[in-house]
Amino acid sequence: MNAELFGFCIDTLKFEDAINKATALINSSKPSQIITINPEMFTEAEVNKEFAEILRNSEMIIPDGIGVKIALKINGIDCERIPGIDFAKKLLELSIKNNWSVAIIGAKEEVINNACENLKKEISTLNIVYTHNGYFKDNNEIYKDLSKYNPDLTLVAMGSPKQELFIYDAKKVLTKGIMVGIGGSLDVWSGNIKRAPLFFRKTGTEWLYRTITQPERLKRIFPALPLFILKAIKYKFFK
Ligand code: UDP
Repeated sequence: MNAELFGFCIDTLKFEDAINKATALINSSKPSQIITINPEMFTEAEVNKEFAEILRNSEMIIPDGIGVKIALKINGIDCERIPGIDFAKKLLELSIKNNWSVAIIGAKEEVINNACENLKKEISTLNIVYTHNGYFKDNNEIYKDLSKYNPDLTLVAMGSPKQELFIYDAKKVLTKGIMVGIGGSLDVWSGNIKRAPLFFRKTGTEWLYRTITQPERLKRIFPALPLFILKAIKYKFFK
């Protein structure tokens, strides 16, 4: 199932169905890009043509931010919010029984190392074939490595739109597999940043928790989030 929002096609699937679609993409014979979209990314697409084109050409877009869920609801579409971090974690868990090879790219060296160590403790036979921090100058070096390993699942945590641009070009060097942009997930898995307690996650108010605990994020949310909701209302009436 999918829906149209601001000219982009969003997969409005339940968590399990989204995982099934990702699995099918891994089993297909071409590389795919999965985007976990939030309101800031729609705003970026308005001013960044290349990014908009990437959104249009991606194989799957899942609604990550609560703002996206609200904007879809305003436009008559009910859907589940799928946090990118939970989606990626589930794929990592499934990689064991499916024999998927995994590549992880992004964050500072210490952060990615700690994250991978923690992930391996939790998912013991995780087959991580390649890792690299997210601070490199030459994308081609990393593309060369990726083409050598041709991983089934590549997670890229460099923030948006950097990670989406990186993944888009990586599609040209891989022959299979999925690549997912996962933003700050490595910071969470490394233990550097705590995820919101379950109450906030269940009620879709993770953003509120993050804003209270990291007040510097306030300028990222306001006025962006309320403006995004207003834009969704405008879109409903004047599409
Ligand atoms: N990052 C990176 N390379 C860069 C810029 C950022 O690897 O050139 C990493 C940064 O260390 C952090 C993540 O990307 O781990 C950005 O997380 P952020 O919370 O900004 O992403 P969001 O989830 O908000 O898109």
